Amino acid sequence: MAGYSGITAGYLILGDRPCLVETGTSTSAPVVRDALSSLGVGPDDLATVVVTHIHLDHAGGVGDIANYYPSAEIVVHEKGARHLADPSRLMASAKMVWGDKLDVLFGALAPTDAARIRALGDTGTIDLGNGRALASHYSPGHAKHHVGLLDSLTGDLYVGDAAGVYLPETGDLRPATPPPDFDLDVALGSIALFTALKPQRLLFSHYGPVKDVPSTLERSAEELRIWVDLTRRARDEGLDLDHAVAMVRDRTRERYAALRADEATAEQFELLSGAPSNVAGIMHWLDRTPR
Ligand SMILES: [Zn+2]
Repeated sequence: MAGYSGITAGYLILGDRPCLVETGTSTSAPVVRDALSSLGVGPDDLATVVVTHIHLDHAGGVGDIANYYPSAEIVVHEKGARHLADPSRLMASAKMVWGDKLDVLFGALAPTDAARIRALGDTGTIDLGNGRALASHYSPGHAKHHVGLLDSLTGDLYVGDAAGVYLPETGDLRPATPPPDFDLDVALGSIALFTALKPQRLLFSHYGPVKDVPSTLERSAEELRIWVDLTRRARDEGLDLDHAVAMVRDRTRERYAALRADEATAEQFELLSGAPSNVAGIMHWLDRTPR
C-alpha cells in the first residue's frame, strides 16, 4: 500500500474453493494477482473474494480482482454491497477526506457487477470446500459494514480493523476509530463477540497473525477506552480538533514503541490509525451521543 510493504494484509485460504480475504488497495491488486499466481491460483481458480469492510485499504482492489478472477463470488456485508457495485459515493467521500493523497494511497475502486456480489447479514457462511467454511459475524463499531470471519478448520479469526491496528515489529496495538461510523459501545460489543467466539488466532489486516487471543482482545478494548477518555477530556476542556489531536497524541505517546522507533515505522503507524483520524472519529461519536 502506497509503496509500503507489510502494512495491509490480504489472506489466501487454499483448499477446494480458494478464498481471498481482503484485496488491499486498487494499486496493490497487481501485486495480489502475482502472489496468487505464484501460489498456483490462476484466473479461473479463485472461488471467493471476501472483505471485512469496504474501506479502501481493504476493499479498494475488489473491482480489479473481480476482473482478474471472473468466476469468483464477491462477498461483503449488506451495508457495503451497493458501494462495491457503484463506488461513486464512496470515492467522492474518500476524495473529501484524503484530497490529493487519494491516488497515491488507494487509487480508485472499480465497480463490480452487482450480479457477482453476495451480501451478508448478521451472520453468513462462505464455503471453502471439503466441509470447511468461513463463518461471518457482523462486527460494527469501526465501520457499520464490518464483519469478522472465523475459519471452521483452523479457528483463525479475520478481525479486519475491529480489534484495532497491530504492529508486529513492536507488538503495539492501537485503536482505529475513524469517522463517520465509530461508536464505542458498539465497538466494545464486537470485541466481546470476538472473545466469545474463542478463536485460535487473530489475523489482523494491519498486520499479521497474533496467537495470544484473550489478552490481545483485552488490550483492544482498553486502548479504545483510553482514547475515548482522553478525547472526551479534550472536548470538555473546549479544545478544537487540532488541539485535541495534539493533546491525545501527546498523552498516548508513551504507550507505543513504534513512535520511538525509526521514522518509517512511526509513519506507518500514523498512516494506518493516525491520531487525527482517530480523534475526529471519537469527537464525531461524542457529538451525536448524549451522556
Ligand atoms: Zn484498515
